[in-house]
Amino acid sequence: MNTRLIILTLLTFTLKGCSQQPSKTMDNTKNQTQTDTSHWRKLTPEEAYVIVNKGTERPGTGKLLYNNVQGIYTCRRCGTPLFTSHDKFQSECGWPSFDDAIAGAVLQIPDADGERTEIECARCHAHLGHVFTGEHMTSKNTRYCVNSVSMDFIPADSVKAK
Ligand SMILES: [Zn+2]
Repeated sequence: MNTRLIILTLLTFTLKGCSQQPSKTMDNTKNQTQTDTSHWRKLTPEEAYVIVNKGTERPGTGKLLYNNVQGIYTCRRCGTPLFTSHDKFQSECGWPSFDDAIAGAVLQIPDADGERTEIECARCHAHLGHVFTGEHMTSKNTRYCVNSVSMDFIPADSVKAK
């Protein structure tokens, strides 16, 4: 009688133990990667028109168009370095032009109509402008055509001073 009770008790515990194993629940919310926007600059309406809505500033008007100072061009929204003055050249197209970008900083995305290739900040996906190839303007045969309002400029002198 006692033995049967013990067996029954053990069996009950065993079954209970099985049923109480934590069930694995799929919690996908924790795995979603969210872009950290806390360090993004607040944009003026003019900046948002270009950076968010993929607009284009009027040619010949950009504040960085004729900037010849040595330094680094950064993303206006997130501050990521995008281009250096070393790669800037005067294309006379009306917008700041570079024949190269800082490695990995700029994404190239073909437009839906396949005619042009959009360029974005690789970090925050701010619209920068477009990239063109085959124009033979420089030895690299590439022109990153960038809106001034999409960028900030950090003179090399100010970096050295820090
Ligand atoms: Zn950015």
